[in-house]
Amino acid sequence: MRDSIWRRTLGEADLAVLETSDEAPASADIVVVGAGPIGLATAYYLVEAGVENVCVIDRGDLLGEAGGANAGGLWFAHQSVAEGAASAVPLLAESAVLYDELEDRFAFDRTYGGLLELIEDQAAHSIAVGRAAAARNAGFEAEILNTTEMRDLEPGLNGDFAGGLLYPDDGQVHPAKLAAGWIRRIREAGGKVCAATEALRLGPPVVTSAGNIEAQCVVVACGAWTPLTTQALGWTPPIRPVRGTLLALPEMPSGTIRSAVIGPKYYWWQLPSGAIVGGGSEELVAFDRSPNEAIVAEIRADLAARFPTLAAQPTVCSWTGFRPHCGDLLPVIGGVPGRDDVFVSAGHFRMGVMTAPGSGLALAQLIVDGETEIDIEAMSPERFALSSA
Ligand SMILES: Cc1cc2nc3c(=O)[nH]c(=O)nc-3n(C[C@H](O)[C@H](O)[C@H](O)COP(=O)(O)OP(=O)(O)OC[C@H]3O[C@@H](n4cnc5c(N)ncnc54)[C@H](O)[C@@H]3O)c2cc1C
Repeated sequence: MRDSIWRRTLGEADLAVLETSDEAPASADIVVVGAGPIGLATAYYLVEAGVENVCVIDRGDLLGEAGGANAGGLWFAHQSVAEGAASAVPLLAESAVLYDELEDRFAFDRTYGGLLELIEDQAAHSIAVGRAAAARNAGFEAEILNTTEMRDLEPGLNGDFAGGLLYPDDGQVHPAKLAAGWIRRIREAGGKVCAATEALRLGPPVVTSAGNIEAQCVVVACGAWTPLTTQALGWTPPIRPVRGTLLALPEMPSGTIRSAVIGPKYYWWQLPSGAIVGGGSEELVAFDRSPNEAIVAEIRADLAARFPTLAAQPTVCSWTGFRPHCGDLLPVIGGVPGRDDVFVSAGHFRMGVMTAPGSGLALAQLIVDGETEIDIEAMSPERFALSSA
């Protein structure tokens, strides 16, 4: 895993799980390409469905890309009213239920602080009232707070606001602890999870940098790199990288920030460890990994404006990841057009952690049973045609 607050707050046992790589086998029932949250959740639910011989491969580290770089936000209500998200509501709702079940099985620092959207002025207030109603219609909790209620909730917050939109049931997880839980279960059931193993051809057999793997079917869960992996099949869904930067400050007393506070551009929250974390830029820089000091400075300026008492705290670490942005803002989940042995789950943009369980279960059901009880019709890969090449 790359450096981030997640790596720094991972216990030794979980870090060992993520830094252990199995040897790539010569055969598997199903090969999952990509060890981010989507690939791991898919493998987990395949194992839960009774598939014993699942193999997850990743060309880099396990959870080495967006899956280890995100905010860990389970912002189901907030996301349900995001642009283009109406068709994702069943997936969000199912994932919320599945997270409750997962919490009974692993520890992954789930918190329930709520998410608070800042309402800057009266024009934004009317929009927020509409968003709150839409979230409630979608089955989630949402309430408009007046300025006094906001101050009570977040005493450290600075600025003149017309109010806040609180989604009280939204919360956070530690994405790397969650991934360690999934990997443990996959391995306990006899599956393999292999780092430094790149899929060079989807096959059959799956040709990898660590040898060929015979498999009945393949799942492509390559995040922002998915079109590069599927292009040899003549199918390139319009998924592109949108880079995001986050940074962490030192540990502060508990309650310094109580909810996840989100403004027009950036968001801030506090981990159970006490660390303050924030950012969430959207940078269209393709796969450029070079640090962008200007973005870090902009995030720090946002912090200073929102929480002036934190402005003097140093940046402990900052990191970036590539969100997989799909052209119509919906993920792509199902069988790849023209192939009955290649499946895909990708393009989850800003909701790949929160919808990983629902996406994983839906695809596992499609592969094992040929149908899924989760409404993912709008996410069909068929909406993107095969190219004539
Ligand atoms: C700054 C930031 C904040 C975010 N905050 C949130 C949030 O609060 N909540 C939320 O739900 N989501 C959030 N996201 C989005 C979330 O991280 C992504 O949607 C999610 O990680 C996508 O998961 P994935 O498994 O599809 O992709 P990834 O996590 O990117 O994993 C894809 C994997 O595929 C591997 N791969 C690619 N090509 C190959 C190949 N040919 N062979 C083998 N392996 C290959 C890569 O190495 C990589 O490990 C955030 C993202 C960022 C960057």
